[in-house]
Amino acid sequence: MKAMVLHGTEKIESMPLKYEEYPTPIPGAGEVLVKVISCGVCHSNLHMIEGDWVKYGTPAKLPIIPGHEIIGEIKELGEGVVNLKPGQNVGISPLWNTCGACEYCLSGNEQVCDSAQITGETVDGGYAEYILAKANYVYKIPDGINLQSDAPLFCPGVTAYRASKLAELGPESVAFIIGIGGVGHVAIQTSKLFGAHVVAISTNDEHAQLAKEVGADDVILTNRNYDNLEKYHESASSVIVFSPSQKAIDASLKLVKKMGTVVMGVFGDLHDFRFINEIKVRGSLIGPRRDMNEVLSLASKGKLKIKTTKFQMTEANEVLKMMKDGKIIGRAVLLP
Ligand SMILES: [Zn+2]
Ligand SMILES: [Zn+2]
Repeated sequence: MKAMVLHGTEKIESMPLKYEEYPTPIPGAGEVLVKVISCGVCHSNLHMIEGDWVKYGTPAKLPIIPGHEIIGEIKELGEGVVNLKPGQNVGISPLWNTCGACEYCLSGNEQVCDSAQITGETVDGGYAEYILAKANYVYKIPDGINLQSDAPLFCPGVTAYRASKLAELGPESVAFIIGIGGVGHVAIQTSKLFGAHVVAISTNDEHAQLAKEVGADDVILTNRNYDNLEKYHESASSVIVFSPSQKAIDASLKLVKKMGTVVMGVFGDLHDFRFINEIKVRGSLIGPRRDMNEVLSLASKGKLKIKTTKFQMTEANEVLKMMKDGKIIGRAVLLP
């Protein structure tokens, strides 16, 4: 098969992904071979490719094929797979497999399993013609899902949904969403579904425009230092941060009300944390399979829309560079 392969971490400007021949995988017991129809381009792909996450052990192997938000068609079943059939369309999320036996797996929080394998980070991902998946970690695609453009449901979709869930939103909530990229523009919609008044904060004019399109009640355009937001301090009952910026995280702690909740979907430090306001800060990582199925159900009813632009898979380097420069509005999707 053909794939976009990473042999060593490098800045995206040097075009580190090589389009080349790669062995087509063979499904083992409990696995399926999936022909990729579409694969979203995630900011975390860029972090891995550029070596930002070597300190966290990512990528766990080289060479590796990136990509972890995938829709495809089952081509072959491995031994013992009974719940799936060739020809079915399925989705694959970043959560490629987990141990199934630890306290987190047993309590339906498999996304934090210590033995989780991550698509495109510890095993080969979806920037390819074919991908292997675990039968227990693929999702049947319901009607109403677009096979080419809805692949990002499997990362931004579930990530945004879980963050909104953890933000404890209700009809009286005021939710601030910081960072209106691939995940943030979905988080606006998922937060609205929980009944919140949603305020989007972005440093980018076009992203702010997208926030309005997808239903934000208010949109605030700020600068890269997030230092013109004084009048909104202590006005959010919940803040959800998807902007990979320490300044955005610092701002979130000022925007949240007393007793409020900050949900972080990015790495960062908590400076100047004022315990006296009794705020709650928590991380949010992708989501368990139950959340993923809820997202598919919402999307199949037309309640979640992903704004996507389609590219050829061979353009992955260029697309990642455009994303780095803030030039992708919503999400880019690669087609093999
Ligand atoms: Zn992703
Ligand atoms: Zn586990």
